[in-house]
Amino acid sequence: MGKFIYLDNAATTAVHLDVYKSMEPYFTEFYGNPSSIYSFAAKSKKAIEDARHEIASFLGAKDNEIYFTGGGSESDNWAIKSAAFALKEKGKHIITSKIEHHAVLHTCQYLEKEGFEVSYIDVDENGILKLEELKQAIREDTILITIMFANNEIGTIEPIREIGKIAEEHKILFHTDAVQAYGHLPINVDDLHIDMLSASAHKLNGPKGIGCMYLRNGVKLGPLLHGGAQERNRRAGTHNVPGIVGFGEATKIAAKTMEKRTEYERELRDYLIDRVMKEIPYTRLNGHRTKRLSNNANFSFRFIEGESLLIMLDQKGICASSGSACTSGSLDPSHVLLAIGLPHEIAHGSLRLTLAENITKQDIDYVVEETKKIVERLRSMSPLYEDFIKEQKEEV
Ligand SMILES: *Cc1c(COP(=O)(O)O)cnc(C)c1O
Repeated sequence: MGKFIYLDNAATTAVHLDVYKSMEPYFTEFYGNPSSIYSFAAKSKKAIEDARHEIASFLGAKDNEIYFTGGGSESDNWAIKSAAFALKEKGKHIITSKIEHHAVLHTCQYLEKEGFEVSYIDVDENGILKLEELKQAIREDTILITIMFANNEIGTIEPIREIGKIAEEHKILFHTDAVQAYGHLPINVDDLHIDMLSASAHKLNGPKGIGCMYLRNGVKLGPLLHGGAQERNRRAGTHNVPGIVGFGEATKIAAKTMEKRTEYERELRDYLIDRVMKEIPYTRLNGHRTKRLSNNANFSFRFIEGESLLIMLDQKGICASSGSACTSGSLDPSHVLLAIGLPHEIAHGSLRLTLAENITKQDIDYVVEETKKIVERLRSMSPLYEDFIKEQKEEV
């Protein structure tokens, strides 16, 4: 087999072998429906409650503030829609940012069609939310602020405590999409003044299709899914027991390894960033230099198409991601890269590399060398680049 280097850990991660092993018995052996009465089902019920406790502890929350969902998108939808519908008598104004995940942005756009008003706050050139603009956007009828913890494309970490404080001072509910942060950064919901939080297992070496919402006790929200009485009447549907067990185990491992793992990733990330910025000209680093996820690097290379770069990296066994949404059939560049002020043509030439613990310095060396060659080759075929170089020579 040729080389295979997976650098798309913001999209999803491999399930940790211990996580996989922890899930196995709940498929074939302890398959009871946790809502049933007999003692066989108690085994499944206990496994769920143990996982809930693990997750609550990681967040500094109480066990009964954790609700299992089908993943990050569901948690985002639930938090935002239910808050909106529960509080619509109080007001119809919601505040979010321009760089949210589509699970938040498209939910807000849906609510706009339902008569709500949404303010989309700007970020600066590094992707940090403009706090002054946030404060100014608050109105008498603002019912919800939803701002992501860390951005999935450029890795920027938002000033969550400050945002939480502002929300609290104005008695406005605060939700954060923490899907990229959970398991990668320390989070304490009290310390950060968070009322609702979304997390998803598959971004921290857990299984896909399972996530949770943290919902502060006392905040009264209706369910998103109606049906059975599972999750204290707030999320109907038979529990995904193996998924929940895997999420609990992934959280346990992530909590235990976080400090060392993120330190290792940060060193590797900085090595990658330094080499790319030094060795490939006309390149921009997207996202904040230090206030960024330990495993995220995002670059824009002028005069090239991100899509071509990805295809050529794939031929070298490298899995990466770009800043355009071409894969989803649209040619629009990423809303995040536009929000940090990149012109369309530069946003198009973007590359996101997201690392993990199993990546070595040798892997990074290989990736840098290949990226360098591919960028050079693509530029050599670009008439824009040719003109640019000609102009530069004339100026000299
Ligand atoms: C991946 C991701 C989601 C969606 O989570 P799923 O579990 O895949 O539905 C939401 N928000 C952010 C920031 C993400 O990175």
